[in-house]
Amino acid sequence: MMSAKSLYIHIPFCKSICSYCDFCKLLYAKTFVKPYLEELHKEIVQKADHLFETIYIGGGTPTCLAEEELSLLLSFFSNLLAPNGEFTIEANPETITEAKLDTLVKAGVNRLSIGLESSCDRLLHLMGRSHTFSDVENAVKLAKSEGIHNISVDIIYGLPNQSMEELDADIDACLCLDVPHLSAYSLTIGQGTKFFQKGYQEADDEIQAKMYERILLRFREAGYERYEVSNFAKPGFKSRHNLTYWHDEEYVACGLGASGYEGNIRYRNTKNLSEYLKGNHVEEKEEVGKQDDLSYFFLTNLRLSDGFALQSFRDRFGYSFLDAYPKEFADYNEKGLLFEVDERIKPTDAGGLLLDRILLSLFPDE
Ligand code: SF4
Repeated sequence: MMSAKSLYIHIPFCKSICSYCDFCKLLYAKTFVKPYLEELHKEIVQKADHLFETIYIGGGTPTCLAEEELSLLLSFFSNLLAPNGEFTIEANPETITEAKLDTLVKAGVNRLSIGLESSCDRLLHLMGRSHTFSDVENAVKLAKSEGIHNISVDIIYGLPNQSMEELDADIDACLCLDVPHLSAYSLTIGQGTKFFQKGYQEADDEIQAKMYERILLRFREAGYERYEVSNFAKPGFKSRHNLTYWHDEEYVACGLGASGYEGNIRYRNTKNLSEYLKGNHVEEKEEVGKQDDLSYFFLTNLRLSDGFALQSFRDRFGYSFLDAYPKEFADYNEKGLLFEVDERIKPTDAGGLLLDRILLSLFPDE
């Protein structure tokens, strides 16, 4: 069996809770951080027994940890990153300082993922974010001066009453930061969020599609390739870690609420901090059957502009995609959603957006 090449680590702490947040997060409290890091270290020692090509510390807000807490966390990976590995940490702009960046660089972190979300004060306030656009500018400038040039910035679109002018301002803001990777996610409103409690609705499909088209056009004009539905990169700067997920390959995950995929088992850790601290890490485990394996494969690979190689499909499932789905493929090809080129099946821009519909017809009974 091949070893998983990617390692995900979850740090759930945040200094405040954003109105749209549906992630596994907790308000930062110093008393919980030390025991959490101790337990996390035990889990890492149990599960991470080889070098990883990518390590990704997400959250939460990993950079809201105090400097000494961050140093302790980073010490867990001192011999886990393969040579030329990608080591990413998520950061909220207002939590980045020169000293913390110095600690990150010394520990081998070479990629930052910064949450811009919007450049518009009205929308940042609505989302409950505690930074301004100039915090993001400073964070990016500081990171570059510390030698981290592989930076990703993300925005959210389809926000309550967001105008096209506000979206254009956010796109301008992304472009003027001059970073090699951008992500743009449409707002989803989960049931546990403050937005849900306040009765906010997601933007309708037509507005979302119009905004997405604008983002696609302007990011492409600026030289970014859309390589996944929501992700754009300059040449050589695709997220290697996230490509592990989208290629539906195995990865190890540690930390509160983290989900992993190893040796044909998908697992999810508990979101309950006291259970986690007692050492009861995993809450759900599922052996991936043939049919589920196929669903995950399509669900992930068809998000990529590059789609999947017909040979990889054959190697993994033992039969040909085109023999198994001749009618479905012909239908989507005619509708301009999927196409075959260079022995690969790829989604068009429209196909990537209509992935749910494609999956429904490949799995009519689900
Ligand atoms: S910073 Fe991120 S994880 Fe924390 S509350 Fe905001 S959206 Fe959620």
